[in-house]
Amino acid sequence: MFEFFKKSAVRGFGVIKNNPQILYTIFLLIAIPFAFLISGQEFLNTARENQERIEQERIGLMYDVFVRYADEKIASSDMASVQDMIEYLAGENPSIEAFKVVSYANSAFMVIASLDRQEIGSIDKANAGRYQSAMLGSFFAFQEYISGERYWRVVKPITDRAGNITAVAFSDISMAHIDDRAAQNITHAYFVMAGIIFIIFLLLLRHARIIDYATLYRKLEEIDKMKDDFVSIAAHELRTPLTVIKGYLDLLSKDRMSDDDKTSMERINISVEQLNALVGDILDVARMQQGKMQFDMKRVDVAEIARGVAGSFAPISKAKHIVVNTDAPERAFVFVDEQRLKQIFVNLIGNAVKYTPDERRVDVSVRNENGNVSLRVSDTGIGISAEDQRHLFGKFFRVRTKETEDIRGTGLGLWITAQIVAEMGGRIAVESIKGKGTDFIVSFPSAEESKS
Ligand code: ADP
Repeated sequence: MFEFFKKSAVRGFGVIKNNPQILYTIFLLIAIPFAFLISGQEFLNTARENQERIEQERIGLMYDVFVRYADEKIASSDMASVQDMIEYLAGENPSIEAFKVVSYANSAFMVIASLDRQEIGSIDKANAGRYQSAMLGSFFAFQEYISGERYWRVVKPITDRAGNITAVAFSDISMAHIDDRAAQNITHAYFVMAGIIFIIFLLLLRHARIIDYATLYRKLEEIDKMKDDFVSIAAHELRTPLTVIKGYLDLLSKDRMSDDDKTSMERINISVEQLNALVGDILDVARMQQGKMQFDMKRVDVAEIARGVAGSFAPISKAKHIVVNTDAPERAFVFVDEQRLKQIFVNLIGNAVKYTPDERRVDVSVRNENGNVSLRVSDTGIGISAEDQRHLFGKFFRVRTKETEDIRGTGLGLWITAQIVAEMGGRIAVESIKGKGTDFIVSFPSAEESKS
């Protein structure tokens, strides 16, 4: 038995640990109805107090009117009028259940007017002491329960012109109607609350689905990770045979080949280069997404790298008769990963050459101003529309126009470039006019050594 409870507890704890949202659901399940209950009760209490205060004021007012006129009538022994007044007031105020006027003369009490006419003249011996204390005091009211019903007992002295107390008005005012109304309100409120709790419960049942979604989300994350792992493993595995193929291609001597074979070799070489670049891009994307890309940050001379990379494009740009100009100061230092900086240049200059028609120019410039080093790659190519510029740094984005349909690419280069720039603390921007050309500007904080 104990084992069973222990196992269930451990399992329950495990479920909660894996789905902390359950705690949130339980909390809502308790807290929301509780909050409604407290606020509802508070509201009812206030309503009840207000109702009672109004009733007390009404009673006080009624007594003031009664006392003002009763003393003259009592002085002139006009008991019939006092009796009429009592009956009129009781008729106006149905909560008055008993009303009598007790007079004191010659050390004796006497009921001189009463709703219960039989009481007139007699005196309730049991209450004689109360009458006496009332005679000495002034207006007072107290609550009393008579067979479960709540009453206000109100006592008000009646004085003659000289200020002597000549009589006392007594009455029992039933609070039954207020208590009945309060009880009704409470029942009503409980029904409304039960309805609200039921609705909340239904909502929470729906909320329970969120737990399902959370589990699903975790599974999707796992699958996504598996996909990333698969892509990076597959790309790694592709890279090895590619390197071998490239190595053997380099070993083949072109001297003994026929012209046809040379053309075929050239085509194989280009395809292998493309495949190699693609595998490299896929590996970078996988590394980026897994947060595994390493950055070996150092103080690097951008000017030198700009000249070097621009130079390495000479064969390609020459084939297209494109001039790649470099305008860079002697030195310009930034704090970055050298290989990644080269990659940025390769991507941007590569695109500039790729998307610029033959016989035009590409400019690479490096500027060191206001504490920043900016690298600008400008071309005089096809340009990018304002709409396409907004999506340019998205993964797999490629502009689809007549001019680009024959140009190969994956849409990963700019995404990777933008990620690398951001990871190394830089900024990237694009300025372009369709049909005129494009400028990509990358800037990093300058890492000039202080001159002091
Ligand atoms: P791709 O492999 O397609 O070149 P990129 O991410 O490098 O991928 O570039 C995304 C898209 O941006 C390209 O497909 C191209 O349409 C556009 N683009 C990039 N650089 C230029 C440029 N210098 N001039 C015109 N269009 C460009």
